[in-house]
Amino acid sequence: MRKLAAGNWKMNGTSADLAAVRAVAEAAPGGIDVLLALPATLLDRARDAGVALAGQDCHAAAKGAHTGDLAAAMLADAGATAVILGHSERRADHGETDDAIRAKAEAAVAAGLAPVICVGETLDQREGGRALDVVGAQLAGSVPDRAPGLVVAYEPVWAIGTGRVPTPDQIAEVHAFLAGRVPAGTRLLYGGSVKGSNAAEIFAVPHVHGALVGGASLKPGDFAPIMQAL
Ligand code: 13P
Repeated sequence: MRKLAAGNWKMNGTSADLAAVRAVAEAAPGGIDVLLALPATLLDRARDAGVALAGQDCHAAAKGAHTGDLAAAMLADAGATAVILGHSERRADHGETDDAIRAKAEAAVAAGLAPVICVGETLDQREGGRALDVVGAQLAGSVPDRAPGLVVAYEPVWAIGTGRVPTPDQIAEVHAFLAGRVPAGTRLLYGGSVKGSNAAEIFAVPHVHGALVGGASLKPGDFAPIMQAL
């Protein structure tokens, strides 16, 4: 399975940052896939930068009266080949349910985008011994029956932007659990405080096929060592 280094820029980036997109493309090692989930405002202008692009969300409908939303086909039209869905920030900030995420994923697939579906437990859920139950329910509820190119990202909520990373054993347990429940060929990414300094240890964990990187994807100098560690 080809490894995948995915960057999630979240709500960061203006035209001044297009140079960083090009720098990531130039630094990308051969033999792995690199994907940048840019803010939608930058997709079209980054489409010739030499790196695959993703959206960060889409609407479940193909078009219509949904002010402020974007259809999957619009992201594809702007140059995206994939879309992140069900990120914990969207689950928290916008109340997205598993059902809503599955509907968005179906729309993404219909538009030819590969869905990158995020799952992950909160600290309370982990400390209550429920991490696998939570992740299993999110997976069962949010992944459509047919999803070509599906990527699943395990992002423990307590590891996102905190500098706190699960142990390799904790990651291994969840990834082995996910590997038994996703279609063959599905890539499983780990996300949450991935940096150049911890990437190699994380990528050595069985069933980890890459990373979904937030903060460290914003600067090519931070993202390059993560790509190289793959
Ligand atoms: P950080 O890498 O900043 O912890 O964010 C992870 C993430 O949420 C990627 O989607």
